[in-house]
Amino acid sequence: MILHVDLDAFFVAVEQARDPALRGKPVIVGGDPDGRGVVATASYEARVYGIYSGMALGLARRLCPQAVFVRGDFHEYERVSQRFHRILRDYSPLVEPMGLDEAFLDLTGCEPIIQARCGLRPGAQPEEMARVAGEAIRRRVREELAVTASVGIAGGKSVAKVASDAAKPDGLLAVPAGSEAAFLAPRPVRHLPGVGPKAEAALARLGVRTLGQLAALPPSRLRALFGKWGPLLGERARGIDPTPVAWEREPAKSVSRAGTYARDIDDVSVLRASLRGYAESVGAELRRLGRRARCVSLKLRYGDFTTISRSRTLGRPTCADEVLYRTAAGLLETALARDGRAVRLIGLGASQLVDDAVQLGLFDRRPLAAEALLRSIDRLREKYGYRCLQTGLTFFDPYVSSPDWEPYRRMGLSSQVGLGVGS
Ligand SMILES: [Mg+2]
Repeated sequence: MILHVDLDAFFVAVEQARDPALRGKPVIVGGDPDGRGVVATASYEARVYGIYSGMALGLARRLCPQAVFVRGDFHEYERVSQRFHRILRDYSPLVEPMGLDEAFLDLTGCEPIIQARCGLRPGAQPEEMARVAGEAIRRRVREELAVTASVGIAGGKSVAKVASDAAKPDGLLAVPAGSEAAFLAPRPVRHLPGVGPKAEAALARLGVRTLGQLAALPPSRLRALFGKWGPLLGERARGIDPTPVAWEREPAKSVSRAGTYARDIDDVSVLRASLRGYAESVGAELRRLGRRARCVSLKLRYGDFTTISRSRTLGRPTCADEVLYRTAAGLLETALARDGRAVRLIGLGASQLVDDAVQLGLFDRRPLAAEALLRSIDRLREKYGYRCLQTGLTFFDPYVSSPDWEPYRRMGLSSQVGLGVGS
């Protein structure tokens, strides 16, 4: 009994929860429509106009001039996301997060938990238990986070995911055991997790457009097309997916933050303020993951799209904002001395992560005190929102007089939050 839980139009939903005036309107989170960013999330009202995630903001505005454009606040999205994943862990010990706004839960054998939490009647069949749990999760997400979730229920992960997509928005759909292949058959191949635009095009060349047609292809044909993955794809299209819900995905190998400026910046104080903001965000993420970084890197992209990356290995792994910032600022100084042109994009990364076991010099207790302070700040921000506290260096902004201090907002940075799982 596997549940796939997915929040509906997550970034937009968080904005609408904070500002009810945005409800029922075409809302696009991504940034300034005159800027160079892309749509991060569009509300369902905006999707009617053909707007989708990843579309250039300028095009989105031409398609829907009356849309409300919101810059986006990734710290708030991360905060809501953490509360979402905490709710899920109340229903099963086996939760596999798939990103900020979705996760798989394995409810097999969870009857006692669901009985205790939701008052499931004794002797209920697993399918009823999964429905009761799914509706309970949807209710708590709505009441506690003021956003909506859709739930798919099936015996395997990929069918559960297709079901939650089909249930959107704000719905629940269970696919009974034995009816998986029939449920999938009429749907386009793109609906199956793992089928991207390339595979879709390759299948279209064979005249294969639906999952039913894909399921009917012989494994040898699929192997010739997609290699080892081919026959597995055929099984997925028939609704067969024995992939277990993992305790945890592969641990992150790097944490990074980067953003593109609304216009190229050559003022080093602005560049430093951006790095400071990113150092705080990367530091908070490292502490949340219980990891420390051995390596800090700086990424710069100039106006002509030349991109450089510089890194430095630390003597002692860190999760401290100040160390991350000072290391990146040092790299910035060296890089600008070589090439002082205006910067289009700036990013800070932490890699070579190690477990969070503090190694201190025998008599040096200062790092511990500094980190205790950071963890207190993390807790306050988790409870009251990222902007309940600010540090002096990120406050600096010579261009905008607004009291809104966040580096992305102040400098028109369209931010990408990256949690690298690859090397
Ligand atoms: Mg979602």
